[in-house]
Amino acid sequence: MEESGAIAARPEREGWRTRALQIAVAAPVLAYLVLALPAEREELLRADVLLFGLAVAVVDLIPVPGWGGLQLSLSFPILLGAAIVFPPPVAAAIAFVGSVDPRELRREMPALLALFNRSQMAASTLAGSILFHRLAEAEGPVGPFALGVLAAAIAAYSLNAIFVAGYHALLRGVRVAQVLRRMHGSAPYEFLVAYLGLGLFGGVIARLYLSEGFWSVAVFLGPLVFARQMYFRNRALADRLAEQNRLLAEQAVRLEELLAKEQRTVDELRELNRMKGEFVAVVSHELRTPVTALLGYAKTLRQPGFAEDPTLREEFLERMERQSERLLRLVENLLTASRIESRQLPLSLGRVLFEDIVREVLEGLAPDAARVAVRVPDDLPVLTTDRQLLSRVLQNLLDNALKYSPEASPCELEATAEDGWLVFSVRDHGIGIPAHEIPRIFERFYQVDQSSTRSFRGAGLGLSLVRDLVQHLGGGVEVESAEGEGSRFTVRIPVRHPNLDEPVPLPREVGAES
Ligand code: ADP
Repeated sequence: MEESGAIAARPEREGWRTRALQIAVAAPVLAYLVLALPAEREELLRADVLLFGLAVAVVDLIPVPGWGGLQLSLSFPILLGAAIVFPPPVAAAIAFVGSVDPRELRREMPALLALFNRSQMAASTLAGSILFHRLAEAEGPVGPFALGVLAAAIAAYSLNAIFVAGYHALLRGVRVAQVLRRMHGSAPYEFLVAYLGLGLFGGVIARLYLSEGFWSVAVFLGPLVFARQMYFRNRALADRLAEQNRLLAEQAVRLEELLAKEQRTVDELRELNRMKGEFVAVVSHELRTPVTALLGYAKTLRQPGFAEDPTLREEFLERMERQSERLLRLVENLLTASRIESRQLPLSLGRVLFEDIVREVLEGLAPDAARVAVRVPDDLPVLTTDRQLLSRVLQNLLDNALKYSPEASPCELEATAEDGWLVFSVRDHGIGIPAHEIPRIFERFYQVDQSSTRSFRGAGLGLSLVRDLVQHLGGGVEVESAEGEGSRFTVRIPVRHPNLDEPVPLPREVGAES
């Protein structure tokens, strides 16, 4: 019966209340045994009494592997058998002696608690025995016998449960009903049926004993004890396996997630590798074109006749200059990109006039620069920013505007000052950008036309640099474009770089694409 709610060997809060309960149960039981047993001396001295007590003790001493919930107590039917076979005081004595707790033997249990445990077992068995002998006879007809057994089982079990629950309620300061509910776990009916079954099993033990003697009970119980042991071992094993399976399943899910992440990283790396390869090819091509042209012009100039013709020489030198400028722009872009990648882009702040930058950049883009209509007022505030970086931004935007629009079509460069910000835009009337491509054009190496037959030069670097540089200058860039109609890139940068002083007021619309 103990399994219905084992009492902790090291109680949580043994106080005067639990001790009072222990004494209140143990004292009358002991007094009863002392007073009632002398009258049962003859009965008590029978060897079978000892054997019953021994059977209960052995069954209780065999450790049952821990398993939460319903457990099959085998000492319960043996005690019930004793309650049926023997007079109540003798049955109580068997319970008192037999319900030894292994923890008692290991001296892990306070003496009073051990006494209480044994006394409440004796009291429960006594109640069962008294009730049975009132209702039926041990060797009487089966019907009343079975009813008596069931009544005895219910009485013994209920009393035991109340004692155990009462003790725990006092120990933890909770209500008895609450402990009872917890003791019966999530399967109260199974529990009840199991204990009624165990009760009837007690009846069988009693009848077997009466007709065949104790040896038959021993032969009957032996395999049962063994089977119970195996059952609990298997249960414990199954529980452990289930737990391990759960852990394994969890790990499998985690592994799968990691694998998916890894796969994504591999895909990204592969894509990066592909882009890198493509980039090398594109850049080689971009470098080769002006270098080949330069070489061609140089060779031509060496030919006799050319040196003497100043007009031709002038024209070739001018072409060489243009190709060199183009080469320089590409190499500078590559250098800047590499510095941004390694986070080593220096910021060199100084006082800058936007008009000066415009002039310089246009000179570098000549003769195409003649197509650019400049609408920059001459009263723009003096900027405190990085001249080099701002030039590179303007240069790339103008280069693209000229590149992606027909040779005869004009481009516009406009600038205004807005509340501590310089806002300038580069507009062209060229091929424009398809709407779905707009989110990608600021990516490194991204080119709308990725075919090998693309008609525009470029390495896919310009706009990604524009975005990074503008950000470095504390501003933002946005684009409006319609396919076939042209594009407008608008850049906002603070008049005073944010590194210099307190935050500059925000622009009315902050650059969305930066
Ligand atoms: P690229 O070296 O190819 O010009 P960019 O980074 O400067 O690289 O630009 C990325 C892509 O954005 C270009 O390949 C081009 O398709 C598109 N693009 C950039 N500027 C313009 C423009 N003004 N008009 C049309 N398309 C443009």
